[in-house]
Amino acid sequence: MRVMEKVGMILKLGYVCDHCLGRQFAQLLEGYSNDERGRILRKAFLMNADAQRKIDIDKANITEQFHSEELKKTVKRSKKKSKCIVCGGLFEGIDKWTKKIKKAVKGVEFNTFLVGTKLNADLIDREERLWEKVGIDFCEPIKAEINRETGKRVERALGKRADLESPDINIILNFSTGRVKVEKNPLFIYGEYQKLRRGIPQTIWPSGKYKTSVQQIIAKPVMAATRGEWHKFHGAGREDIDARCLGWRPFVLEITEPSKRRLQLKALQKKINKSKSVQVRRLRKSGIKEVRALKQARPLKTYSALVKTGKDISRKDLKKLKKLVGEIQQRTPSRVSHRRANRRRKRKVRKLRTKYKDKRRFLLTVETVAGTYIKELISGDNGRTRPSVAELLGTKCVCEQLDVIKIGKLK
Ligand SMILES: [Zn+2]
Repeated sequence: MRVMEKVGMILKLGYVCDHCLGRQFAQLLEGYSNDERGRILRKAFLMNADAQRKIDIDKANITEQFHSEELKKTVKRSKKKSKCIVCGGLFEGIDKWTKKIKKAVKGVEFNTFLVGTKLNADLIDREERLWEKVGIDFCEPIKAEINRETGKRVERALGKRADLESPDINIILNFSTGRVKVEKNPLFIYGEYQKLRRGIPQTIWPSGKYKTSVQQIIAKPVMAATRGEWHKFHGAGREDIDARCLGWRPFVLEITEPSKRRLQLKALQKKINKSKSVQVRRLRKSGIKEVRALKQARPLKTYSALVKTGKDISRKDLKKLKKLVGEIQQRTPSRVSHRRANRRRKRKVRKLRTKYKDKRRFLLTVETVAGTYIKELISGDNGRTRPSVAELLGTKCVCEQLDVIKIGKLK
């Protein structure tokens, strides 16, 4: 269908505003707003009519004075303003929405936003009926235009930036109720922590068995500063509750519905580091993408374990443990098998060092790939891990104390 033919069809249906006219040609020529397209097409159509000295559209659409005598006599420029049969004058009301938005975001700290709309069924109906009549070859849905046009005005009025990817807040306009809703998107803070004491879980313990956690210690001052609703903790793996983590473990703390986003991270770090159990460093703003990367990362980890043996051992016996370097087979440990699928995994011990303490105790330092169960590497877990320290020494072995001493780079 030719463009002008289609313009004529649309303008025949009743008064159609520049936005709604232009939107049916939204995919033609870059760099114009729909109301600019509408204005250009309306004028060009009327010019054409003037040249042919005939016109057959709804009179409310005639906004220009004709030059040809024939049309001048018979067709008058429309004086009174009509209501658009598609949007019902919605675009003229956008400034009213901007005012409402200004009010709704009062007290909410943000730099970036995204506008979304809930349209009423009538409006969608009217748009669809128009499409049935004139086709959809170059059009854009009205929702897209409202969101964009409102976004532009909010940018100007509030000096904030529209961001389609990860906005600080979502501004939802509800055209049925006339209300504006502001959704505060979560705030993400990256950091690295050390856990200096045993007996503290990484995340909040549901039953209340443990009074605190790495998560709570870190989140407390952050919650006070952001006035958020709640927090989630995403760690790059986790150490056992009874193990210390002396290496720096990356994490992302997620704060839901924060009212404050401008944070003094240095000051927050100082506050957290008053804790004797947990220390943090390298705090910075982060995002959901980093959370995903963190969950998938498989960094190398170095552990230090104090091993207790069932019978006396010599320094010479410890040399046998060199055989552990290389591939090992590990079934899901019996202590976690109630919550994890029982699978056999290949793991790698990359380096191993021992330090003799006394006849029944020695220090074992191992570098492994993430996911290796160290306590089972020592005890053998009734043959579920092979080979193991216990198997190679030919005696029962128990991990008495465990520390994570280094976490390698996340890949
Ligand atoms: Zn309209």
